[in-house]
Amino acid sequence: MERWIFGILTFILLCHDNLNALDFGYHDNDKMAAFLTEVNRNYSAITKLYSAGKTVQNRDLWVLAIGKDVHAGHVMLQPHFKYVGNMHGNEVVSREVLLHLIDYYVSSYGNNATVTNFLDNTVVHIMPSMNPDGFAAAMEGDCFGVIGRQNANNYDLNRNFPDFFAVNPAPMQPETLAIMNWTRQFPFVLSANLHGGALVANYPFDNYVNASGIQKYATCPDDDTYIDLAKTYANNHANMYTGAHCGDNFPGGITNGALWYPVTGGMQDWNYIVAGCFEITLEISCCKYPNSSQLAMHWDENKQALIAFPLKVHIGIKGIVRNESGHPVAGATMIIRGRESINFTTTDHGEYWRLLLPGTYTVEVYTIIRVLVIFPRLSIPCNMFLNQNFRRIYIYCNSNCASMCSNVRGCVYRCLCPWGDD
Ligand SMILES: [Zn+2]
Repeated sequence: MERWIFGILTFILLCHDNLNALDFGYHDNDKMAAFLTEVNRNYSAITKLYSAGKTVQNRDLWVLAIGKDVHAGHVMLQPHFKYVGNMHGNEVVSREVLLHLIDYYVSSYGNNATVTNFLDNTVVHIMPSMNPDGFAAAMEGDCFGVIGRQNANNYDLNRNFPDFFAVNPAPMQPETLAIMNWTRQFPFVLSANLHGGALVANYPFDNYVNASGIQKYATCPDDDTYIDLAKTYANNHANMYTGAHCGDNFPGGITNGALWYPVTGGMQDWNYIVAGCFEITLEISCCKYPNSSQLAMHWDENKQALIAFPLKVHIGIKGIVRNESGHPVAGATMIIRGRESINFTTTDHGEYWRLLLPGTYTVEVYTIIRVLVIFPRLSIPCNMFLNQNFRRIYIYCNSNCASMCSNVRGCVYRCLCPWGDD
């Protein structure tokens, strides 16, 4: 009798495992949606499944958001991170590795300290496919072709965003507009979009004024931070950092976008310049649509990098700009001295984030027409408190500030805490 019950239990457990198992095969659009739905059902407390919009052919742009506070609405100063895969419909490895990343996150939450701490303090949004229409047209085994690259209106989605350096004549596509609306709905601080056909981590700028197709390093003001972000991916990848792959040679496995080749209308520059989100572009496989037998290898190669990169969402400074009544100041412009060409603005809740490497920075806060205040030598990490009369400077430090700073080499702790008890 007991053996009989044990047999049933074993059978149930095996069935349950099979329900959760994610195989290393390709998941077409229906199978992908089914997997996301199943994960959402099995891990409903920490996941939320939603559509960021529709494609030309009326397919959903599915996003699975993961985090302890994913259902809590907005949590002050909690940054959001995003991965966008399969932007070019025939570059498909990213779709599958992002599904495996989802599987890893939900099964590690509560078991792995790093993952748990990260998901307790971050919301991660994963869109495995930005171009499911293109994917439906693409063919397994087509390593170097272009069938399925574009969306169903035959536009390249990574040439379809408003461009800071040049006029982009391409009409904006439903997928592009959906991404832009989605990006504005959450305080995304860091993101990556994933591709295939090379093995490199590519960072802004992707373009420059009068680019004319000439390869040139287009230095953005956060070049140091971006190099660190790109290296984080390349160095945690099994072999990207060696640089010599797919007939290319990228020192360290990273490249400035325009130095590789200038692009008008790229998504990463738009994220950085307009949306205030640090984005890089990851090329993760030489073959765009390899045989499914290669997928397990690609997951193994990318796994640590996919996990390590989002952790960087917590570097730099963040805080809240408030008036003297304690009300948040929305839309204030945050300027880092020496990086004035790219400025982020505070959210509706007065929050700001700026990814910076350890060091000492001068931060300025502006409204539309006047300087509110200048913070000389604001050191990482500190939160700020701004007085409404714009004459006095308060820098608010939480109790962790000094101890956090002492753990960062080169970090200078220098805070003015006017209340003395913080
Ligand atoms: Zn691509």
